[in-house]
Amino acid sequence: MPIDIDLMRLARISETVMETSSVKTLVFKDRLGSKASAGQFLMVWIPRIEEIPMSVMVSRREGHAAVTVKKHGKGTTALFEMDVGDFIGLRGPYGNRFTISTEFTNVLLIGGGTGLVPLLRLAVNITRLNIRCTLIIGARTKDEVIFEEYARKFLSDGKGKVIVTTDDGSYGLKGTASDGMVKTIGEERYDCVYTCGPEIMMKKIFEISKEQSLPVQASLERYMKCGIGICGSCCIDRWLVCRDGTVFDSNQLSRMKEFGMAFRDKDGQKLQYK
Ligand SMILES: Cc1cc2nc3c(=O)[nH]c(=O)nc-3n(C[C@H](O)[C@H](O)[C@H](O)COP(=O)(O)OP(=O)(O)OC[C@H]3O[C@@H](n4cnc5c(N)ncnc54)[C@H](O)[C@@H]3O)c2cc1C
Repeated sequence: MPIDIDLMRLARISETVMETSSVKTLVFKDRLGSKASAGQFLMVWIPRIEEIPMSVMVSRREGHAAVTVKKHGKGTTALFEMDVGDFIGLRGPYGNRFTISTEFTNVLLIGGGTGLVPLLRLAVNITRLNIRCTLIIGARTKDEVIFEEYARKFLSDGKGKVIVTTDDGSYGLKGTASDGMVKTIGEERYDCVYTCGPEIMMKKIFEISKEQSLPVQASLERYMKCGIGICGSCCIDRWLVCRDGTVFDSNQLSRMKEFGMAFRDKDGQKLQYK
């Protein structure tokens, strides 16, 4: 019998990986999650705490999925503190996905923080199609760089390359991920830009891409409660990020007044990005 993705299922954490002192990957057996497309998310229930949206991380174990959590507020801190043997609840995977054209020969992926999670899943799919891929990993400082070793391994043998940028210059190129983008688009021709991470970063990437007539696909985050298009908490202009996204293309992004400008808090109140 097919499993209903809307019915919460339990999963037992089978492995954990500390990525940095505040970022941790939790691996669990989940057939539905293991088949998620890049850009999709799971609603993760942390018993007695709350349910939060999390992108689906790549897992090398057959039939397993993973999430990579950055310790932040109540929910993410509780999830970060979970260990092997603990149970979480799962719904989904939900949302649309990044799309890849078989006409592409070279693409650029730009991620910051846990925004790299869906991009790694995408990079795996892209390299399987023999499309070359450059991945920019943006971080504030050396200690916050995640997934570099993993990305370098699967983008070796001519499949692509990895560029690391740090705001403080403590590692890789000094500057933001968008500075890394400006440098690499001056050296190579790309067919498409894929991005996920802080919205201010994505807005900058969108603007640079527009000047260069480069198509963009961006995975957006908004405060999300139901994940299935009912509560409306994740609205951005007339779109719902959980139902219509999380991935939006250049055409949609150019029509979003709130993109990179405003977001809503838990009460639905509109706040401006600083
Ligand atoms: C589609 C999607 C995928 C995500 N994937 C990941 C992931 O892979 N790894 C990861 O660590 N985080 C991810 N997040 C963000 C994560 O869901 C939020 O950080 C989390 O819900 C915050 O819960 P909290 O209890 O820790 O924080 P809270 O105590 O609830 O809030 C702390 C602060 O975070 C803000 N916040 C709360 N929820 C969100 C949200 N959904 N988006 C942005 N800010 C929020 C609040 O406004 C507040 O300022 C994702 C969010 C979305 C929408």
